[in-house]
Amino acid sequence: MARKRMVAGNWKLHGSAAKVDDFCKALIADVSSAPADADLLVCPPFVYLQRMCEQLVGSGVAVGAQNVCDQVESGAFTGEVNATMLADIGCSHVIVGHSERRHVYGEDDAQVAARFNAVMQAGLTPILCVGETLEQREADETQAVLKQQLGAVLSASGVQAFSRAIIAYEPVWAIGTGKTASPEQAQDAHAFLRALIISEDAILGDKVSILYGGSVKPDNAAQLFACEDVDGGLIGGASLEVESLLAIARA
Ligand code: PEP
Repeated sequence: MARKRMVAGNWKLHGSAAKVDDFCKALIADVSSAPADADLLVCPPFVYLQRMCEQLVGSGVAVGAQNVCDQVESGAFTGEVNATMLADIGCSHVIVGHSERRHVYGEDDAQVAARFNAVMQAGLTPILCVGETLEQREADETQAVLKQQLGAVLSASGVQAFSRAIIAYEPVWAIGTGKTASPEQAQDAHAFLRALIISEDAILGDKVSILYGGSVKPDNAAQLFACEDVDGGLIGGASLEVESLLAIARA
């Protein structure tokens, strides 16, 4: 079955107002070189979201956030930004559970599940990141980790959430390291994740988009995207330049 394909850029802690303006201008000029059947998404830091939303409106390129508060309603949560606010300024997607949130900022499965649920409640599309560390892979724990991380969200939000939500398999050891998973490693993990969804709902499992993330570059994207269960990519470093983001989308 044909699944939705996506190339999503995660700018992490990079960018400036001038960078957003230059990037959007270049992206709009060249976006027609990306295949029409691949969705494009860019996720800059919070403070640049509105600027990017305003510039990319009507371009066909979606804008998303890199994280979100676990509360949907307004309230006494100093320093937070919720999914309702993100929807208000034109964001459509939110990355949740990125490995840097889990491993640098200590977000656990329950917190990730709560953020995922908040994104769903606000009507936006969560991109749920899951992935094992190198130690976990070497200890043959990859499948157990993926099952636990995805399972926490399935228990909290239910499988129906995956009629909208997207999964990103991002092995921690491949993020920002220049070490990419081999196509076989990526395919195995993606097939395993898909099987977990299929075990709860065969139709949704077949349809859910699963992106690969971890040092994807224009020269390795085609190999990874050729895998049967890889439906696109979540791109960090290579998403900062329009040229490389679009080259990956063309792959
Ligand atoms: C990411 O930030 O999710 C990521 C995959 O980064 P990189 O492409 O730089 O490895």
